[in-house]
Amino acid sequence: MKKYTELRPWLKQLVQTNRLVATKKNIALKHQLAAIAKKLDGESGVLFPAPDGHAIPVVSGFMSSRAWIAEAMGVEEGRLLDSFRAAADNPLPCHIVKDAPCQQIVHKDFDLRVLLPVPTHSEHDSGPYITAGLVIAKNPKTGVQNVSINRIQVNSKDRMAVLILPRHLHVFQQAAEEMNQALPVAVVIGVDPLTLLASQAIAPIDSDELEIAGALHGKPLDVVSCLTNDVLVPANAEIVIEGHIPPKVREIEGPFGEFPKYYSSQEKRQVIVVDAVTHRNDPIFHTIIPAELEHLLLGSIPRESTILSHLKRSFPSVRDVHLSLGGVGRYHLYVQIKKTHEGLPKNVILGAFSSHYDVKHVIVVDEDVDVHDPIQVEWAIATRFQAKHDLVVIHDAQGSVLDPSTTVGLQVDADGVIPASYQGMSSKVGFDATKPLAYEGHVFTKVRIPGEEVVDLNQVLDPSVSIASFLNQK
Ligand code: MN
Repeated sequence: MKKYTELRPWLKQLVQTNRLVATKKNIALKHQLAAIAKKLDGESGVLFPAPDGHAIPVVSGFMSSRAWIAEAMGVEEGRLLDSFRAAADNPLPCHIVKDAPCQQIVHKDFDLRVLLPVPTHSEHDSGPYITAGLVIAKNPKTGVQNVSINRIQVNSKDRMAVLILPRHLHVFQQAAEEMNQALPVAVVIGVDPLTLLASQAIAPIDSDELEIAGALHGKPLDVVSCLTNDVLVPANAEIVIEGHIPPKVREIEGPFGEFPKYYSSQEKRQVIVVDAVTHRNDPIFHTIIPAELEHLLLGSIPRESTILSHLKRSFPSVRDVHLSLGGVGRYHLYVQIKKTHEGLPKNVILGAFSSHYDVKHVIVVDEDVDVHDPIQVEWAIATRFQAKHDLVVIHDAQGSVLDPSTTVGLQVDADGVIPASYQGMSSKVGFDATKPLAYEGHVFTKVRIPGEEVVDLNQVLDPSVSIASFLNQK
């Protein structure tokens, strides 16, 4: 199967298969653009030519289904997690080039607010946000790069505030700050579907996500050095914002409507001072609509892949995992196992909590329950779960700082905020929704009709039968 290693051929493929539509010109960047993309979420991506009359078009929603993501990777949907894992485990070093499409046009004197068509997405957002910017930086101690997508608020002509959650970029920024140095960064907008997916890999620190992108491509990713710093960026990207995060500088950021479908608070956060903007001759700006499918799936699929391999290491009987969309692709983990021992599901629950701090509720089901079907999972809870025996509760563990329920009942400090060290403190709950290994008669036998799996409707339906003839009264 073909892989899509560049953005534009992937967008063409979507157009040819009626999965990418265009709007009229002059759609408003504030709210209207996001409202239209949200309406089409999961059904079709959308291109906005000349939003607010802007020279640069905006695209959104080109990675909005599991099937599309598998197709871009060139694999069957059922192979999605294993294929992603194989790439994450076998990164390919990048290939450095000198001439890059992303540097065809260079701006050293600019106003970000005029140069780029940055949308304002949700009702209470503090302003325009870059939501599909891959933030790339080098570890000041090792020189190895990291890629993450961080929400970025455009504050002025050359300053942006950025939310940096406590992962790799945060470690780099803290290390630079301790040395009283700025951290050079690049924000890359408009990359190919596989690089976009690779950016969300849950990889160890000092594992460059661009090398995982190369592995997904099946060949090393072409990268080019930024013009004002030595960060390496994907050469075929549409737009690159070059800049640095100065030490000990914080500016107000937020509120912003985040993936849990709630607003995260306004706080003082790190700042990116922009030194240059480069782009293709005719760039396309990508925006991800917060909390919609493109956002949730880009986060959940790489996580599922990591969690599945993490669990399989300790529990060979784990078959599949799914981070459900109702659980915002982060908080609810469904695990399918081939149960061999009565106590096994509880061990799997404990293992799952340790796989990622965002995992809040874990539901373990048997092999006859499809973890990709929330109705089947709910059926398993309804019929195979008894709280007295099957519930695991752990209080005061680390959870997601973006889960609003974690803020209830916590003390705020003099500034009215929860101290950082207490943010995201959460209860974890596990549900063993597996059936007992041994039971009487057909107590736990799932109802099945012999032959239901093999009914061929073409063989049995007869369009020539007049149904009306049965309904007319004689
Ligand atoms: Mn990383």
